[in-house]
Amino acid sequence: MPGYELFDEAEKRQIDEVMETGILTRYGYAERRRGRWKVRELESAIAARTGAKHVLMTADGTAALTTALVALGVGAGDEVVIPTFTFVASFESVLAAGATPILADVDESLSLSPDAAREAITPRTKAILPVHMCGAAAKIDELSNLAKKNGLLLLEDACQAFGGTYRGRALGTIGDAGCYSFDFNKTVTCGEGGAILTNSDETYKRAEMYHDHGHDHEGEDRGLDGHLFTGYNYRISELHAAIGNAQLAKADRFLAIQRENKKTFKDALSGVPGVEFRELPDPEGDSASFLTFFAPTEASARASAKAATASGVEGVFYWYDNNWHYVRNWGHLKNRRFAHALSSDITNALPDYLASDYSASDAVVSRCVSIAMKLGWTKHEAGELAGKTAEALRSAL
Ligand SMILES: *Cc1c(COP(=O)(O)O)cnc(C)c1O
Repeated sequence: MPGYELFDEAEKRQIDEVMETGILTRYGYAERRRGRWKVRELESAIAARTGAKHVLMTADGTAALTTALVALGVGAGDEVVIPTFTFVASFESVLAAGATPILADVDESLSLSPDAAREAITPRTKAILPVHMCGAAAKIDELSNLAKKNGLLLLEDACQAFGGTYRGRALGTIGDAGCYSFDFNKTVTCGEGGAILTNSDETYKRAEMYHDHGHDHEGEDRGLDGHLFTGYNYRISELHAAIGNAQLAKADRFLAIQRENKKTFKDALSGVPGVEFRELPDPEGDSASFLTFFAPTEASARASAKAATASGVEGVFYWYDNNWHYVRNWGHLKNRRFAHALSSDITNALPDYLASDYSASDAVVSRCVSIAMKLGWTKHEAGELAGKTAEALRSAL
């Protein structure tokens, strides 16, 4: 990753096809678009690839999560259990739906600990939102059983995990709904884009209406569309979907490159004392966008990240210090700094994040280092970088 590393003529051709008609929107203009429906084409291709009954493209992954929550009926008064290690979009979307994000610890799988998720359940819990972090599956069997046993919805944040599977099933197709992101830094990119996957006709229909101002899309004239409920505008454009079509056709190539590069790095680093690889619930289904390992301590993890960067690897992540991905630096959420006033019901329902104990997550994330597997590396470059990194880690650890 990311997919933009291997842009070529295919993306340009797709954009040209859209510009030949000039119809940049997914709805309407049937006669003028000369049979070109780039968003529909991408939705069908993602459905065929993943086996999902319905796919709805959205403007981005955050919009996909928000729309999915609303479509599933999550709203004010509902609690949604999310992990402490994710991208801010996970809690942003819960807040946008008017619901309450409850943060639960992660374990060595880098996603929700099933035990922590169980402990976070209250009579107000409506959904569990596991995140398939860094390209690979969460402990989705256990989390799915936990949701079923407690009558809760399961929404998978698979925004970082397009191409990943769990026991042969595409990530994002296991829960009541799942979401992908195709933003600029993901393995497959639209520039900006997202998708909702679901097997439920009702969830799909509600999502489809909500993401387009509540329009029921029953007739040809948008001005005469009926509205079952109010909605919002989370639509993707034909131009973004066009890029996505070109990228999706290369997805298997991208995954093969990532897997090969990851094997090269893993082989090189596996002999290094102190390096312990991330726990993968299904190693076969790893999209291999990152190689992630744990160092023995916070200090040695910091030193490892520095050493890997110094040996020439771009894209080394020490998540514990990252403002986007880990609860430690989510000061805006913890201090309730909202851009506009929220209702007192919503604010009063929030837990005291500042007083909460996330030490179990700290113990995992403070020792964690990820290396992004670049698509642009030649085999030779990957081998050389992996060797240098292994050497640097030997002296750092
Ligand atoms: C990228 C990402 C998102 C949001 O996607 P955008 O398309 O950037 O809005 C949500 N969750 C996770 C875990 C992500 O990595």
